[in-house]
Amino acid sequence: MSKKQFKTESKKLLDMMINSIYTHKEIFLRELISNASDALDKLYYRSLTDDSVTLQRADYEIRLTPDKEARTLTVSDNGCGMTREELENNLGTIAKSGSYEFKQDEAAREKVDIIGQFGVGFYSAFMVSDRITVRSRVYGSEEAWEWRSEGVDGYTMEPCTKESAGTEIELHLRADTEEEKYSEYLEEYRLRALVRKYSDYIRYPIRMEVEERVHKEGGKEDEYETRRSDATLNSMVPLWKRPASEITEEEYNAFYREKFYDYEAPVKVIHWHSEGGATFDSLLFIPAKAPYDYYTKNFEKGLQLYSSGVLITEKCADLLPDYFSFVRGLVDSADLSLNISREMLQHDHQLRRIARTVEKKIRSELLKLLESDREKYETFFRAFGLQLKYGVYTDFGMHKDTLSDLLLFVSSAEKKYVTLKEYTDRMKEGQTVIYYAAGETTDAAAALPQAEAVCARGFEVLYLGEDVDEFALRAMDSYAEHKFVNVCDESLDIGSEEEKTRLKAENEGAKDLLSYMKETLGDKVGAVRFSVALKDHPVCLSSEGGISLEMEKVLNAMPNAEENRVKAQTVLEINLNHAIADRLKALYTEDKEKLAEYTRILYAQARLIGGMSIENPTELSNMVCGLML
Ligand code: ADP
Repeated sequence: MSKKQFKTESKKLLDMMINSIYTHKEIFLRELISNASDALDKLYYRSLTDDSVTLQRADYEIRLTPDKEARTLTVSDNGCGMTREELENNLGTIAKSGSYEFKQDEAAREKVDIIGQFGVGFYSAFMVSDRITVRSRVYGSEEAWEWRSEGVDGYTMEPCTKESAGTEIELHLRADTEEEKYSEYLEEYRLRALVRKYSDYIRYPIRMEVEERVHKEGGKEDEYETRRSDATLNSMVPLWKRPASEITEEEYNAFYREKFYDYEAPVKVIHWHSEGGATFDSLLFIPAKAPYDYYTKNFEKGLQLYSSGVLITEKCADLLPDYFSFVRGLVDSADLSLNISREMLQHDHQLRRIARTVEKKIRSELLKLLESDREKYETFFRAFGLQLKYGVYTDFGMHKDTLSDLLLFVSSAEKKYVTLKEYTDRMKEGQTVIYYAAGETTDAAAALPQAEAVCARGFEVLYLGEDVDEFALRAMDSYAEHKFVNVCDESLDIGSEEEKTRLKAENEGAKDLLSYMKETLGDKVGAVRFSVALKDHPVCLSSEGGISLEMEKVLNAMPNAEENRVKAQTVLEINLNHAIADRLKALYTEDKEKLAEYTRILYAQARLIGGMSIENPTELSNMVCGLML
């Protein structure tokens, strides 16, 4: 029998397939199953108007038949089938969908997995087979035809016998190599997994005969036998298309674990149908823990994007703002075109509308969780709070209104998490600002003398322990019209009128002493002053202007900080209510040398108390020792 030649363009694609360098060879199965599903659709639609089609909806099926001995995998359907001409035209020519040229261009330019993205249909089966036999019989026809090809050489056509209508595609699998074990496509577990991964929502059952270990009938308790039975491999209806009221928590959790590879159950499931602006179904999950690479550059955000149940993109980044990048899940919209490319997606108006709706939904659901289940929300916040705070800080605080109510801070009241609303709702009579203390950890912040002093006066203080915290608060500037004020800020306005008057007089009266101390320290400090903002501690450092001491530390610890060191404007504050104040005053007239030494010691102490390093520890140690002798 003479061989027929493929059309030139088909030959090219075929060549691409046969010499395929693509890693995702496994997608051939998705392609064949999709074709089978289309064939079932066609017959089903015909049955609606054609009484000669007597098949019932429940009769339609796709079947996988692996045969290890023959080394073949057969994909069959009882759909519309193909005539002799159709076999030749459809399988001898590349599909006329017009996507071929696009695919080839893209593949050459980007070397991306175009096949994985878009699929190339039937020919992809040549990636795994060295011989393909297609037997097909049109529904209602008596004759059946066999198409057979071993690749680019061409194909043969001959009549055959086939008991029932439909198409069966028999793949003879290639020999295994080091890199690729084609024989895996004969294994039950592998076929099951592939169907679940790519074809789970095909609306017809995909069946396969499987082996089951069952109790032997009439046998003893530990007597088993192997029985062969039919299993349906796909779940057919996507979970997100089912009414939420019918889905159990276990089902959601199992779906999440399986699709998004997490060991833990999510803290929150958001399953909703959006109507109005953009119509779509969505199933979102808030994980309980950050993935190990979450706070690295390697992490890729994104939601799965489906168009009517068919997966278009595994990770559509445009659907999530950075500050909600931890959300996993999917969006399924009937309004999106299936053949949409990735670049087109970026400009898609519809997609942007979906993204906006998704963002609003995530925010409102997180707020709901915060109100209804504080413990769960805190679990979430411990994992992803940092990301929310980065979100406040980036883009010059543009998203503060979206995010400020989602933030939690440890506060001096009970040392647990509070929201900004909780803080402002219980502010003291006459309190106008929100106090915070920043340190390397929240404990370090709490231990600052200034923080203790503000607490001692009955104010609540937020303790900041993350690098980004103070930057985020600065970006917000205020919450509900209450400014954020660092307790270590020189301008901290605390104390009674009486105290303030006294302080002013004391600072005036000791002008010479204070400027002597300032001279001693040189440009290490901008000024030395008495203060009433300290409780029991003798000294502390405060800062003036835009950069706090904690910010100075953070900024100078960043990569590239060497060339561009920042310096906070510092003030050495002496507690006016501490005995050390009188001692210093006395020394100014009695012993200036000792005063200078004490000044240096006090400065070093203030740095240590503030969680900063000191420039010359040996000198300090010698000076302290000198005091002892
Ligand atoms: P596409 O599915 O993109 O059109 P394919 O190369 O996968 O391209 O298939 C070419 C054509 O062959 C299909 O459009 C369809 O008409 C026909 N075909 C493929 N598989 C089957 C099948 N199982 N039953 C009936 N027709 C099929």
